[in-house]
Amino acid sequence: MKVYFDNAATTPMDPEVFEVMKPFLLEKYGNPSSTHSMGRQARAAIESSRKKIAELLQCLPSEIIFTSGGTEANNSLLQGAIEADKSPTIITSPTEHHSVLEKAKRLSLQGFKVEWLKVDPRGNMDYEHLRALLSQHPNSIVSLMHVNNEIGTISDLELISGLCNEYGAYFHTDAIAGVGHIVYDLQNTNIDGLSASAHKFHGPKGVGFMYINHKKRISPIFFGGPQERELRAGTENVAGIIGAAKALELSYNNLTHDSEFLTELKNRFTSQLFDKIPGIEFNGDPRTGLFTILNISLPVSLNNEMLLFNLDLQGISASGGSACSAGAEEDSHVLKAIGTVPERGAIRFSFGKYNTLREVDYVVDQLVELFTSD
Ligand code: PMP
Repeated sequence: MKVYFDNAATTPMDPEVFEVMKPFLLEKYGNPSSTHSMGRQARAAIESSRKKIAELLQCLPSEIIFTSGGTEANNSLLQGAIEADKSPTIITSPTEHHSVLEKAKRLSLQGFKVEWLKVDPRGNMDYEHLRALLSQHPNSIVSLMHVNNEIGTISDLELISGLCNEYGAYFHTDAIAGVGHIVYDLQNTNIDGLSASAHKFHGPKGVGFMYINHKKRISPIFFGGPQERELRAGTENVAGIIGAAKALELSYNNLTHDSEFLTELKNRFTSQLFDKIPGIEFNGDPRTGLFTILNISLPVSLNNEMLLFNLDLQGISASGGSACSAGAEEDSHVLKAIGTVPERGAIRFSFGKYNTLREVDYVVDQLVELFTSD
């Protein structure tokens, strides 16, 4: 049996998404900046995709800027906010995705001050600490993720954005693990910048977008073209953008059904693992974390080494820590930040709409077998 439980790394494309992209790869290939009818056709398709995404996330179409994915969106929003604000301080957390973490470290080397927010053993952010940091450094750039892509912990965007607003800070959130799975009403929040990536919600890879609140403009980091309101130069990934909008539409149309199903699937997995593997621990909080992610630590055992490899041999795709950092056996910075014991093998299972309850039972059986075959 083949089981793909690595949807936080990437999701399979929905065939409906592929169908709407296809004509823009083969027949309607005009450059959206061209003024002839082929170009105008591509431009119109981009603008209607932008409008669709804006409606789904409840913001203005002009506040959506397409990028090559999540990493670019995170880097651009941080760099762009710094250049626009000239703020000397960045507040972020040690559990951010590498695309924020490494950018923050880079900025620190360039002379900016980086303050690291405390997180608790479940990965929850310490909001009192945030208040203290903001009162010390008002007007800073704050970058805190919405859903942690390794352990599923969800942060309180309303609280954080309220605090940032109170202290005049710029608030960016990496919502890449949340968009498509959680409803956003951006016009009624104090979020200034948000990042999303289409391949996390059954869209194509290599395309994403930034939400840039019209009240807080940022500076571009790419130059050389008027595309995307001069905020992101470069010929647009037309088919990708169309696919991203379709994927987001499908995700939100089916959100109630899919979230209920995935909650059932995750709960079944959690309770079976708890019953059948004595000493198992859950990283993050399996009850309050997002339904797409379950991160476990197994009892220390000889079999911990080669765990992912052995699961792979049984046809199961899962990940140790974050698959985006590729070296699957590399220690996860998130698990380190929340104080997980490194000797206990950790695995992240992450779920999507194409998974089944039968797959859960199969993976549990395989894990039990691996742990009882010493
Ligand atoms: N942030 C988070 C939370 C992610 O999960 C990922 C993808 N692993 C990224 C950023 C990077 O996105 P992309 O793969 O589109 O560059």
